[in-house]
Amino acid sequence: MWFSLDSGAVVIVHLGMSGQVLVHQGNDQPNPHLRIRVSFTDSRDELWFVDQRTFGGMFVDEARSPVTGPDSLRHIAADPLSPDFDLRATVRRMRAKNSPVKAVILDQTVVSGIGNIYADESLWRARLHWQRPASGIPSGRLRELLEHSREVMTEALAQGGTSFDSLYVNVNGSSGYFSRSLAAYGREGEPCLRCGTPLVREQFANRSSFRCPRCQRAARR
Ligand SMILES: [Zn+2]
Repeated sequence: MWFSLDSGAVVIVHLGMSGQVLVHQGNDQPNPHLRIRVSFTDSRDELWFVDQRTFGGMFVDEARSPVTGPDSLRHIAADPLSPDFDLRATVRRMRAKNSPVKAVILDQTVVSGIGNIYADESLWRARLHWQRPASGIPSGRLRELLEHSREVMTEALAQGGTSFDSLYVNVNGSSGYFSRSLAAYGREGEPCLRCGTPLVREQFANRSSFRCPRCQRAARR
């Protein structure tokens, strides 16, 4: 994420694996993992960057184009919720990849913002097997997949996101409740909400993928 400054520069925030951006009010408890404190001239609240590990960070980028955004983020494609998101161009980029479709929607140079959980939810909604090469999937189905990703992330945002642990909280330190609405992720052995078939878990690039073996069949050759 980034914040625009009056000077035209931007402050870029990378959460890494465990970073949190919190609004700190004077009476809050001190935090042992506080890394960066931002104070304001017009408020007593502070913005805290808290990180248990140190994969995340904040930095200032002076170079910014009004069209492509900060120079240091130029390699990152728009996310499906961005007003700049170009559905047709994204489908074209996806169709050019022979990798599994899940790897393609997790690739930030193709489309950003879709993480492991929302990828599985989107693929379940689109009835696509995660391993199908993106190049072999018709454009219309890829478009549906991206539309599902936009829906699932919009629904998740309305519930504050998906908090599997105490690290994932909003700026006020509250958890999100979308984990209760997940249809695929984390539901190994539980019945598919569409067809009742037990979901399976498969390993994918050191992560888990959850799918319905009936609704999301292997690629047709
Ligand atoms: Zn199913």
